Amino acid sequence: MSQDASWPVDLTNCDREPIHIPGTIQPHGVLLALTEPDWRIVQCSANSFVYFARHPGDLLGQPLSTLLNPNDLTTLNTILTGEQVEANPLYTLTVGSGAQRFDLIAHRSHGLLIIEFEPATQSEQASSLRVYRMVKNVVTACQRTTSVRTFAQTLVAAVRKLTGFDRVMLYQFQPDASGHVIAEEVRSDLTPYLDLHYPASDIPQQARALYLRSWLRLIPDITYEPVPLLAVDPADPSIPLDLSYAALRSVSPIHIEYLKNMGASASMSISLLKNGQLWGLVACHHHSGPCYLQYDLRAACEFLGHVVSLQIVEKEIMEDAAYTIALQAVLAQLVQQMSVANDVLAGLTSYERNVSHYIEAGGVAVCLDGQCVLLGTTPPESALGPLLDWLTQTVPDDLFITNALPQQYPAMLPLKASASGLLALRLARTRPNYILWFRPEVLQTVNWGGNPTKPVEFTADGASLSPRRSFALWEETVAATSLPWRPSEVLAARELRRAIIDLVLFKVDELARLNDELMRSNVELDSFAYVASHDLKEPLRGLHNYAHFLIEDYGDIIDAEGQAKLATLVRLTQRMEALIDTLLHYSRVGRAELARAEVDLEGELADVISLLGPRLQEGGVEVRIPRPLPRIHVDQARVREVFSNLITNAIKYNDHALRWVELGYVVLPPDAETPATEPYVFYVRDNGIGIPEEHQETIFRIFKRLHGRDEYGGGVGAGLTIVKKIVERHGGAIWLTSQMGEGTTFWFTFAKLTVDRQRLGV
Ligand code: ADP
Repeated sequence: MSQDASWPVDLTNCDREPIHIPGTIQPHGVLLALTEPDWRIVQCSANSFVYFARHPGDLLGQPLSTLLNPNDLTTLNTILTGEQVEANPLYTLTVGSGAQRFDLIAHRSHGLLIIEFEPATQSEQASSLRVYRMVKNVVTACQRTTSVRTFAQTLVAAVRKLTGFDRVMLYQFQPDASGHVIAEEVRSDLTPYLDLHYPASDIPQQARALYLRSWLRLIPDITYEPVPLLAVDPADPSIPLDLSYAALRSVSPIHIEYLKNMGASASMSISLLKNGQLWGLVACHHHSGPCYLQYDLRAACEFLGHVVSLQIVEKEIMEDAAYTIALQAVLAQLVQQMSVANDVLAGLTSYERNVSHYIEAGGVAVCLDGQCVLLGTTPPESALGPLLDWLTQTVPDDLFITNALPQQYPAMLPLKASASGLLALRLARTRPNYILWFRPEVLQTVNWGGNPTKPVEFTADGASLSPRRSFALWEETVAATSLPWRPSEVLAARELRRAIIDLVLFKVDELARLNDELMRSNVELDSFAYVASHDLKEPLRGLHNYAHFLIEDYGDIIDAEGQAKLATLVRLTQRMEALIDTLLHYSRVGRAELARAEVDLEGELADVISLLGPRLQEGGVEVRIPRPLPRIHVDQARVREVFSNLITNAIKYNDHALRWVELGYVVLPPDAETPATEPYVFYVRDNGIGIPEEHQETIFRIFKRLHGRDEYGGGVGAGLTIVKKIVERHGGAIWLTSQMGEGTTFWFTFAKLTVDRQRLGV
């Protein structure tokens, strides 16, 4: 680019600037390009006179022996023969003496041998042992860290100590190629850049490619004058020379401008790679004049870059592992809470450690069966209904993640501050049951960390790049996006889903087991009742008979009191027999198979009513049947018993002058969960004495009566128990509504129906 002044550079085209072939170098050394194997100088930097007191014209076309003595040439030859220096610069030897000593760094590129001569200062700083010790210490310190942040901080501190730069930052690339300063060591009087974000365009594409090729770049003095490369033959096809690997390569003027804007006078950067990709840069700035780093020290920094690069993966894994362990602890607690509360929603939301402590997010909404609990910063509940509809309609998967929700679901744009990122976990197939984790817009996140716009703008004209302008640019690129969801978080969400499903399935299992147990104990109870009552009957009959014998055979010698007692004994045995018969009947109802068949209820009831005719007439009870009763599939004898019992009670428990009993049914409206062919709810209504609320459950218990033995015509208190048993054996249910003094209605079904009692008004 700098070869051609007509090629202006700005932010829009710097991605295309050919920075690897600038045609110039920095002036802190001399660069020669040689043909092989004759080692003839075909290109030479224009500054050769400064270092060698030889003009390029004297050197071009000459063999290297014009500069090096035979011994050095032999050494160089030996080294280069044994080493792989293709695209891999290598320190070879130091030549010369006194002030004229040079480090020779050589590499091959496009068939030419490139040798860079850098003045070698014999400094204590560069002693290899000292450098080795420093590198070793840094590597050990970095190894001890457990998070990426502390690792980065340790590294920048060490690099600053090693190099003496005024500012050393670790700049980490984000998935969108923008950068984030995650660690910094800086001279105390300088503005810190920690936590700043830069747009991807700050480090253009081809610069990133160069960072991958060459791990370390140094600009010792940004005010340098670029030195052109001169060639023997201007038509040589190797012109412009590819300087991708040359340490002396001249850098883009826009980069220099950028550094100037940041107040830097010298800079160096070390690439950090992860799995062959550029993961970050250790960016060093000097603010107090030039800063030259001798080859040894640079090599040490570069080596450090290589070694710590290998540790990055490990640090990220460690950090992730620590996070995953923390997540598992929260998960275990959530599971425990859900099982204790016996309720998913409550377990997730109503304890101190709730679902918002699981997976880092700004807020969470748990929406289950029409109920939504919001924790932290989320969109308002009114916005969640439409979002759930959108998710149900457009996302077929159980898990949905995005860090740019407003892009996919524009209705969320006004709520981007809290909902730029979404991790949605679906908990049910047929219902919109979700857990939604929301992440705020990145900018909000940055603002939590501190005001990122603080750093000073250095430019006077406002047109050039500067940290603040860069931040503004970055702001534009990340608008309405959140931090991305990590793979470990996605995994954690899936684990929570599995735990919830397991829990629900466990509950279903548990319920089925209890049901089985209940059925078994019911059957056992029925058999026990049968056996017990059957076996009791015989001795009871004996008691009854012997009491009779006593009255008949010894009636004349027993006095009147004894006779009365014997009569009571006979009555008691009769009552006990009635009770036992009831028990036997009850157990038979429980055990006998139902004989289901189509039954004409209208006809059956006519029969039942005629059998009860004398009692109805005696009590003056009117029977009302508002509409013809349907045909249903039931056990005919048992269903007759149900109606007969309920009508008998309606006759008995009524002390009104005008008594009536109404037999009828309602038809349930069609319901997805009740696709029954016989959606009838029957009722038997009377205008009797009513049943107090507190007894509306207990009257179904066996032998439970609300009145004295002989009141309201007597009874053993088993009628309703048997009715309930019959109804339930058909799969139905029975309940009642009652008003004291006004009457009672018994409602019942003979099939499993979902009855919305409120809608029925009962
Ligand atoms: P029983 O009629 O033999 O006492 P049930 O099991 O049929 O036994 O009824 C239990 C109790 O429920 C009765 O004793 C009565 O107090 C109350 N009961 C039943 N049906 C009615 C009704 N239609 N109106 C008021 N009370 C009733």
